[in-house]
Amino acid sequence: MPIYNPPLRDMQFVMHELFKVTDEFRAMPRHADIDVDTINAILEEAGKFASQVIFPLNISGDTEGCQLNRETHEVTTPKGFKEAYQTYVAGGWPALSCEPEYGGQGLPLVVNQCLYEMMNSANQAWTMYPGLTHGAYAALVEHGTPEQKSAYLPKMVSGEWTGTMCLTEPHCGTDLGLLRTKAEPQADGTYKLTGTKIFISAGEHDLAENIVHLVLARLPDAPPGIKGISLFIVPKFRVNADGSLGERNAIFCAGLEHKMGIHGNATCQMVLDGAVGTMVGQPNKGMQAMFVMMNAARLGVGNQSLGLTEVAYQNALAYAKDRLQMRSLSGPKAKDKPADPIIVHPDVRKMLLTAKAYAEGGRALAIFCSVLLEKVHFHPDEKVRKDSEEMLSLLTPITKAFLTDNGWQATMMCQQVFGGHGYIKEWGMEQFVRDARINMIYEGTNTIQALDLLGRKVLSNNGATLKKFGKLVAQLVEEEGVNEKMAEFINPIAMLGDQMTKFTTEIGFKGMQNPDEIGAAAVDYLRVAGHLVFGYFWARMAQVALREIAAGNTDPFYAAKLQTARFYFAKLFPETASLMRTARAGAAPLMETELALA
Ligand SMILES: Cc1cc2nc3c(=O)[nH]c(=O)nc-3n(C[C@H](O)[C@H](O)[C@H](O)COP(=O)(O)OP(=O)(O)OC[C@H]3O[C@@H](n4cnc5c(N)ncnc54)[C@H](O)[C@@H]3O)c2cc1C
Repeated sequence: MPIYNPPLRDMQFVMHELFKVTDEFRAMPRHADIDVDTINAILEEAGKFASQVIFPLNISGDTEGCQLNRETHEVTTPKGFKEAYQTYVAGGWPALSCEPEYGGQGLPLVVNQCLYEMMNSANQAWTMYPGLTHGAYAALVEHGTPEQKSAYLPKMVSGEWTGTMCLTEPHCGTDLGLLRTKAEPQADGTYKLTGTKIFISAGEHDLAENIVHLVLARLPDAPPGIKGISLFIVPKFRVNADGSLGERNAIFCAGLEHKMGIHGNATCQMVLDGAVGTMVGQPNKGMQAMFVMMNAARLGVGNQSLGLTEVAYQNALAYAKDRLQMRSLSGPKAKDKPADPIIVHPDVRKMLLTAKAYAEGGRALAIFCSVLLEKVHFHPDEKVRKDSEEMLSLLTPITKAFLTDNGWQATMMCQQVFGGHGYIKEWGMEQFVRDARINMIYEGTNTIQALDLLGRKVLSNNGATLKKFGKLVAQLVEEEGVNEKMAEFINPIAMLGDQMTKFTTEIGFKGMQNPDEIGAAAVDYLRVAGHLVFGYFWARMAQVALREIAAGNTDPFYAAKLQTARFYFAKLFPETASLMRTARAGAAPLMETELALA
């Protein structure tokens, strides 16, 4: 059976030593009083919930999956899921970082970020039920009418109701401009929605008494394409004026997908047969409102892979210390045993360290983003709010795609550490790999994230936001440029920072002559940018570790952090050179291939 120990020490390091989040919160009146001990105490309890309540349901949920009753259209989740959800609700976890106005506890988003990382490690499929609710909540807080907010938000915050996002249709996934679901205005101000949505996560289940679907659809007079899409709330049960549940709405689960992973999460085909909804935001401006949910979901998906990377790493590490096979190339290490533990072999260590470096680098990025999001919403200074929003929009596609690509590599490597036993169900490793795979696909494939980064976030403003990130790198270089002990961490990011400007300009210039050049370079470009970001955070983590060691701190945590930083810069970061080379190879080897792809 797999193990999972909440990585509280590392979370505390990132929050309190690397980013000093409580100092950041001092500037935000709403969190001015929050202290380190409170955050740590909450996360300790969150870790218990994740490891003791939902982790034990991970393998059984995967084996059992969800069941649809075709007559009632009701979905039953795997054994124990409902009870775990009741425990989650009773513990007040859904309300952690929500607005007090709607019954939330108003705690910093970073607390929620860490809660979700742990829940994703413990059971990604289960965590998607409350996770989607959070995104829907965020969209309604920003774009809902006062009536919608008072009718829906308190129930979503308490966890009594869950949420979904209904975008995808059989003929339209990436290209939402093709969507056909219709919304007909009614005399009473509501709309009747008709159409079919597919792949809707948590579209139907037995965890909560109501499900709040956020549905994209077209008004009868809507212009074609993406500019003619509106957003609607379509609840499973209609909601009476007093907030009580009304009649069953005409939105039904018509089928469940049989899929590679996340079996415990119901992936539903949803039929809307004149279902009654109310509009969120303005007509034909639905994408604007939906983007609030999509951006939250993109960060959330990166967090899913962060969680899987961590849990896969913990299991692979324990196995590698225990499994005896062959002798070390440099002579026996466990002389009293018939063979050495496989952790002595360089390549096994490389696989373990890759997962560790990706988990800890990913944690730094994810927590950094949650602090930015906090500033976007609650910082009193408008300039800080605006700058944070810009930086977050740059880092969102990187978080989604870089963390999920890394998560895929890391879970596979950790499975590989188990050899044949990694392929066998009972060890749980093959499930981590299967579950991690979807994270690169949904919420906009990683290719789409790469196009978003390069096209919309970098080239559209001539690299202005990227340069702001470059400034952070330059500041660190200036701070530590003369510190010999930091040279191994600072030199690579200083060099990549310089190269990045030329690299970006070159692609932008080629893209002006031939737009396919952007498509050909984008995926490599995102990975290079991902390493620039990770390199920056790893250098800062090394900086903190070196300072502690220099001050006489003998906690092995810091020496371990330094060793992982060294591994990252020596073995993973240099991938950037080959990525820049393949990006520079351009579009021709892809597009001048009519015969090869005939
Ligand atoms: C388990 C699961 C859960 C999901 N949950 C939800 C959910 O809750 N709500 C929801 O609305 N949807 C959900 N989805 C749908 C998911 O978001 C889509 O599958 C995804 O966005 C891709 O769309 P598609 O499958 O239609 O692929 P397509 O859009 O057909 O893409 C196929 C391939 O073409 C590539 N491609 C497409 N356009 C371009 C381009 N311009 N440039 C380069 N490459 C391109 C893609 O990257 C991909 O590799 C879920 C899907 C799955 C499998």
